[in-house]
Amino acid sequence: MRIFDPHIHMTSRTTDDYTRMAAAGVRAVVEPAFWLGQPRTNPGSFTDYFDSLIGWEPYRAGNFGIRHHATIALNPKEAGDPRCRPVLDLLPRYLDKDGVVAVGEIGYDSMTPEEDEVFAAQLALAVEHDLPALVHTPHRDKARGTRRSLEVVAESGIPPGRVAIDHLNEVTVDLVHDSGCWMGFSIYPGTKMSPPRMVEIMRTHGLERMLVNSAADWGVSDPLLTLETGKAMLAAGYTDDDVDRVLWRNPAEFYGQSGRLDLSAVGDAGPAFEGSSILRGGS
Ligand SMILES: [Zn+2]
Repeated sequence: MRIFDPHIHMTSRTTDDYTRMAAAGVRAVVEPAFWLGQPRTNPGSFTDYFDSLIGWEPYRAGNFGIRHHATIALNPKEAGDPRCRPVLDLLPRYLDKDGVVAVGEIGYDSMTPEEDEVFAAQLALAVEHDLPALVHTPHRDKARGTRRSLEVVAESGIPPGRVAIDHLNEVTVDLVHDSGCWMGFSIYPGTKMSPPRMVEIMRTHGLERMLVNSAADWGVSDPLLTLETGKAMLAAGYTDDDVDRVLWRNPAEFYGQSGRLDLSAVGDAGPAFEGSSILRGGS
């Protein structure tokens, strides 16, 4: 099974995770820019973070034979903080970089007027830079947040086929299915979406425009839940080709719309490159 995780925060994961992911068949990932837990107090913190997403983290992933791309944006959690607002001015230069395959994660956290403005401004940047957009849906009041996100997407003029609406569940999937946007699902241990529930959603909504991710960050999460979803699909009677479609070809098609997705020579380095300075530990 070859796996492309379209939404995973590797910055907060260890080399043990990379080793397990490579062994499980993960050959490509997209890491969206997001909140780091501790509020950032100035745009310079974002510059360093964005540079790490397009420089250091792809290098780290490459040592395990995993291709790493990023999405860049001012995330919903910090979009309402006036100290972070100037980050919008930094984005154009990152959106021109080779390893950046979408604008994201954008969208709502608390659905404030400030978040409205930042969301719309970043969708306009996606249109201007001819990039897809990755939209996070809020954890609270998810149905209203999803509906409102779809309205803002429609107003922006970006084609729905270039937008992924993420962190969906049984309550929100219909809205997004009908909109023509891609449907993203974050599979978590214990909470939110599980592999069996995900299989049930595929049974009722098909495999087209479906994206499955682990979203793994520093919270309780598991970067191998993509693999577990693939196994649950096979156990439910889906074919290897169906699994490949959901776990590889769908994310490749979605991010391929950027014209920058490079999956050539994926997997050539094989798992855990022994000579890596990372594995010996640095500073
Ligand atoms: Zn995320």
